[in-house]
Amino acid sequence: MHEWLQDLASALGNPEAWQALRRVLTKFALSDGLQYVGITFALWITLHVLLRKRLAHRLISGWPRRGEVRRELGYFTSTMVLYVFGSAALLGALALDKIEIYADPLQHGLPWLLLSLPVMLLWQDLCYYLSHRLLHTRWLFRHIHAVHHRSREPSPWAGFSNHPVESMMTSGLPLTLLAFVPLQQDVLLLYVLHQVARTAHGHAAIEIYPHGFARHWFWGRFTSTTHHHLHHESIRGNYGLWFTWWDRWLGTEQADYLERFDAATGPRPAPAEAVTAARCRTAPDSSSAPHSARSAS
Ligand SMILES: [Zn+2]
Ligand SMILES: [Zn+2]
Repeated sequence: MHEWLQDLASALGNPEAWQALRRVLTKFALSDGLQYVGITFALWITLHVLLRKRLAHRLISGWPRRGEVRRELGYFTSTMVLYVFGSAALLGALALDKIEIYADPLQHGLPWLLLSLPVMLLWQDLCYYLSHRLLHTRWLFRHIHAVHHRSREPSPWAGFSNHPVESMMTSGLPLTLLAFVPLQQDVLLLYVLHQVARTAHGHAAIEIYPHGFARHWFWGRFTSTTHHHLHHESIRGNYGLWFTWWDRWLGTEQADYLERFDAATGPRPAPAEAVTAARCRTAPDSSSAPHSARSAS
């Protein structure tokens, strides 16, 4: 039997090992809770509750319904439970010297310290694009990815509202890089915080980036909320995670992305225009007027 399997078998029969595992899982549940739940809740309460009226003109299509948010919360919770076990598995790999997460920032030199986060993000972005395309094949979509796509107008909670297999594919796969490169512990924390913040932000239903962002020569290479929102709206195109280049190079960016971004970030309607628009909506012949895609549902 392999040596580490023997260690594992003897540990499973040891009550102290079970207590240690329980302590580790509790610690990760608290830290993951703070990071994932804290950031997502902060974004949701700010954009969808406190600033709901002020940012209504920034809606990309419509608000998520209350029932949808409850369903997203259910799947979000199951993903968090999975992540707690994932963190424990990462700790196990560390204990078995299968990966190296180091404390001293300069242990592997300043260049690697500065380069490691961009490398991890580029690798994560590539893994996500490929696995996301795979998740859109007929069988995988129907049995796995459809869970995430039940949110047509997502809330920040939808970011981690996934089938467990999808969570393992999209979050676990990028971490396989740790089998080949060392990572400083604060860089790993930044990697996680970036993932939580931008995933929740990508499902915010409101475009908070400034007008011109998507057409900018530099910022346009980063995905926006509109970019991923359109993916939820039509279930095809815009498969990228952090950057727009895979969709552009492989011809999968939605043709109207830039126009929809411009529309969501246009000038706020003047109060007089808003009153006129409201009157038009309540007029007897308003049924013939085009439906406002931004109305709350
Ligand atoms: Zn998808
Ligand atoms: Zn999504």
